[in-house]
Amino acid sequence: MSRFFSGKYASLEPYVPGEQPRERKYVKLNTNESPYPPSPLLTERVQEQCGLLNLYSDPECTALRERLAARLGVRTENILPTNGSDEALNFAVMAFGDGTHPFAFADITYGFYAVFCALGGVPYMEIPLRKDFSIGLEDYIGLGKNIIIANPNAPTGLALPRAELERVIASNPENVVVIDEAYVDFGAESCVPLIEKYDNLLVTQTFSKSRSLAGARLGFAVGCAGLIADLNAVKYSTNPYNVNRMTMAAGSAALDDDGYFMANCRDIAATRGYVSRELAGLGFELTDSRTNFVFCTHPKIQGAELYSELRARGVLVRHFDSPRIAAYNRVSIGTREQMDIFLDAVRDILNERGGAAL
Ligand code: PMP
Repeated sequence: MSRFFSGKYASLEPYVPGEQPRERKYVKLNTNESPYPPSPLLTERVQEQCGLLNLYSDPECTALRERLAARLGVRTENILPTNGSDEALNFAVMAFGDGTHPFAFADITYGFYAVFCALGGVPYMEIPLRKDFSIGLEDYIGLGKNIIIANPNAPTGLALPRAELERVIASNPENVVVIDEAYVDFGAESCVPLIEKYDNLLVTQTFSKSRSLAGARLGFAVGCAGLIADLNAVKYSTNPYNVNRMTMAAGSAALDDDGYFMANCRDIAATRGYVSRELAGLGFELTDSRTNFVFCTHPKIQGAELYSELRARGVLVRHFDSPRIAAYNRVSIGTREQMDIFLDAVRDILNERGGAAL
């Protein structure tokens, strides 16, 4: 840190992204990327943009918003495309949070929420998940604070039905409720259909997982026109060209090729089922994941140790140090072949410990 760094960031603890190692080739199951490349249509459309890079991108993201609106059954004024959904979440904290409008979210959830609040000087409250990692909905009913709920939640993978979330949204009419649907395409119910009914509901989604575009950085927020106008005020005060040309073209092409990506999501869900059954057979406990990852623990090996042993065998998963989930690892769902390599490595590790299987 230099002596010029503003004191207002003195206690900031930046988000630590999952490793992107370069030193060796791993079976990379640590950042919930899609194992499938984008379809050829995207390559073609992105290439068309390369010769136009001397020109700024469309700050209104018109073509992309039109396609998204058609896909989601909303109007273009209900959508704001962003540089990853991280940016949509940050914009929401910037737009709706301040000293008298704090945020609340689960104690075990996406770590960036707390970082965005700290960055913006917005107070926040962490609400403990229940012992089984489920969200205690009653904790959020009539809370009177802005709320962020990841549905499905990460890293637990658990999802709530739309009807339950609607109770939270309806009971906090004076506060914004953000539903982070980064993983919704892998098997959860979206709250997008509720945006017509509730002017305090903001939904965020991403192209990073279900549409194989983590490296392009594309997400979006969906909400009533008023909320989207607020987010636009923040966007036009920070970075009007927040989505670059190539990414915008990739996003539009992904929506034109929706069948390809939704089929990939079904494959990933099927592989998740296979991996879950195999792990359970080896004595693991797993949450009922509705995402492109599983969250698992084994009674005979510590979470950090399993992580290191897998790493030594060329398989990278994600381990979080925080006390309530230290026994667990989050394992992204790759191709069937990648998951067989992972499962073989797990068997090997357990066998070395004298057959820790049941
Ligand atoms: N929400 C959750 C719950 C996530 O796990 C992630 C991925 N790290 C994001 C949002 C942000 O993803 P992106 O910025 O790639 O859209």
